[in-house]
Amino acid sequence: MFSKKVVNVGNIKIGGENPLVIQSMTNTDTKDVLSTVNQINNLSNAGAQIVRLSVRDLEDIEPLKKIIKNVKIPLIADIHFNYKVAIESIKAGISKIRINPGNIDKKDKIKEIVKYAKEYKVPIRVGSNSGSISKKFLNISPEKALAESALEQVKLLEKFEFEDIFISAKSSDAIQTFKAYKYIKEKVDYPLHIGITEAGIYEDSLILSSAGIGALLLNDIGDTIRISITGDPIKEVISANKLLTLLGLKKGIRVISCPTCARTEINIEELVKKVKKLTNNIQTNKNINIAVMGCIVNGPGEAKHSDIAIAGSRQTAAIYQKGKFYKNVKKDELENELINLLNNYKWE
Ligand code: SF4
Repeated sequence: MFSKKVVNVGNIKIGGENPLVIQSMTNTDTKDVLSTVNQINNLSNAGAQIVRLSVRDLEDIEPLKKIIKNVKIPLIADIHFNYKVAIESIKAGISKIRINPGNIDKKDKIKEIVKYAKEYKVPIRVGSNSGSISKKFLNISPEKALAESALEQVKLLEKFEFEDIFISAKSSDAIQTFKAYKYIKEKVDYPLHIGITEAGIYEDSLILSSAGIGALLLNDIGDTIRISITGDPIKEVISANKLLTLLGLKKGIRVISCPTCARTEINIEELVKKVKKLTNNIQTNKNINIAVMGCIVNGPGEAKHSDIAIAGSRQTAAIYQKGKFYKNVKKDELENELINLLNNYKWE
């Protein structure tokens, strides 16, 4: 979305004017083909457009071929140490590889990987994270070290005349990560894979990743995102979808609700839960705002910018549609009225 250069991963274009792409990573054993295929399909159904999986050794290659055949989305092979695993993954039909050149001992071996990547038109993600910074950068600031470590890998690929590159520079420190990507963005124009690494369990990662990734996106930095969460990767995809929708960077339904106060005239929390339950599985190619407001102080104002809005008042609740007053309903009729309205709404 924000880099000028566009790089294809299978049938997905990343960078340029293309929408941001959500990705995640399997945590099944790659040798367990059935579990891995099931997890990839579940991630895809939840909204992941690309999924990465670890390919640890040459014994993973046969299972990898079967996995590629049985899923519909492009896959990324995550490879460390053995350059032959990268080459065999490319030959097996992988759509992208992620390597850390620092983990592969000789430059000739990188050159060999690049040769196959060119031949099979497979892009390569390189990059750093705070645990893999090149020793020569240890006496500069952590964010610069993170960025320079990634850029050093980019220069190596460029030396071999390879430019289908993605870059990442992740740390578990959101501010450091932000500064590192900003630095990289000023120097080169390859699509950026963004995220906060080792962001922790669900609740912690949601806050840290939203802050870090959010800051990057609001500064036009980032083309594909992964929210890293310890545990079930489905949560990564749902969270990434939610973040992009709430930031208005992806079409979808956003439910706005007031924080409640002494003026609140209707049970906002219950109502919002019902609205979310009724709209959770709706797919739409529009940006739709539904506002649930406790009183008429901010209700009518918020309604102006919403597709559907509700504002409580002493006796009744006011319903608005497309910014205009629609009708007043008695509070005990509000829920049914709302269900009716949502069930008949043209989401497409
Ligand atoms: S909209 Fe009304 S009820 Fe809700 S927080 Fe504002 S003043 Fe309070």
